[in-house]
Amino acid sequence: MNIDGTNTVACLKPIDADTSKPTVITPLPHMFVIKDLVVDLTNFYQQSIEPWLKTKRAAVEGREYRQSPGERKKLDGLYECILCACCSTGTPRSSLVQRLCCMLFDGSPTEERLQSLTEGHKRLYGCRTIRNCTATCPKSLNPADAIQKMKAKHLISEAVGKV
Ligand code: SF4
Repeated sequence: MNIDGTNTVACLKPIDADTSKPTVITPLPHMFVIKDLVVDLTNFYQQSIEPWLKTKRAAVEGREYRQSPGERKKLDGLYECILCACCSTGTPRSSLVQRLCCMLFDGSPTEERLQSLTEGHKRLYGCRTIRNCTATCPKSLNPADAIQKMKAKHLISEAVGKV
């Protein structure tokens, strides 16, 4: 929801001790409201892309995929995302941010994932780095930084002819 002009999750937002003015609570902006503060997140989840690891490694039946400590480390600052949509609804490039929130679970995105972000250069490069998404994230994550890193990965991929 939006509390006093900031997208956030109510369980993490301290109550304003200044009781001289009312606290204004509204639904997340730019979303269809179902009722009161409840918004329809259907589009948000539909546009989010597959929040799970993708790997080309063959699965060993009955066993989990092993992850090296280095691979696990790459997920710090990403796996904590709770898909609350605060960042997504706080920026005009909403579909980009929510896609990134999910795709970064990979740590190093596959070519397929990069392609889905960069079709016609519209999505990834539509971000103007306003950083509203980072400013509003209640989990103190940094989607704006992730987008910048993704741009760099895409440019490198293009330079070596992989995308
Ligand atoms: Fe919410 Fe932050 Fe994840 Fe965006 S990055 S969905 S604001 S937890």
